[in-house]
Amino acid sequence: MSEPAPPGRKRPRVTVAPAPPTSVPSERPRPKVVVAPSPPFLLDFFPLQGAGQTRLSRFYDRLKEGRVSTTCCPRDGEVHWPPRVACPICHGEELEWIDLPEHGRIYAFSAVLGGAPLGMEADVPFAVGLVDLAGSPLRLFGRIVGRPWTALKIGDEVRLESYPLADGRSFYRFRAVG
Ligand SMILES: [Zn+2]
Repeated sequence: MSEPAPPGRKRPRVTVAPAPPTSVPSERPRPKVVVAPSPPFLLDFFPLQGAGQTRLSRFYDRLKEGRVSTTCCPRDGEVHWPPRVACPICHGEELEWIDLPEHGRIYAFSAVLGGAPLGMEADVPFAVGLVDLAGSPLRLFGRIVGRPWTALKIGDEVRLESYPLADGRSFYRFRAVG
């Protein structure tokens, strides 16, 4: 029986060690690792594409049809890239959708040799570049596939194409041709 501590004095702290486990399993069940079908939202390279998520869902609907398109203002003829919900020149919101030219030439390119975005680690090395679209004022940035980056040259012809992502979305890219 211990005496109560005198007033004003702290009782010494007593640390009690946890009791040892009665039995140690030879192999603990491991937690099941679930691989997400796509990267977390904030690390997702590709935009959300539904009508509830973006006012530019038509762009993605058309991508799924194999058409890479953008908006054009019927008032001043301005062709936008990326597509817009309002014209940056006249602020009009009555825009038309036009298909982009299928062909272009590489204006500049580079290679991703490391530090690829999440979900693209297995693709390294791969090429990205700027492409001048034939007969259009637009110069688009995108990934270039179809040839190793070491075999690409400035001025090479590429084709603009849409392609499906694993999770049902679509995106666009360039494919080296010729
Ligand atoms: Zn306009």
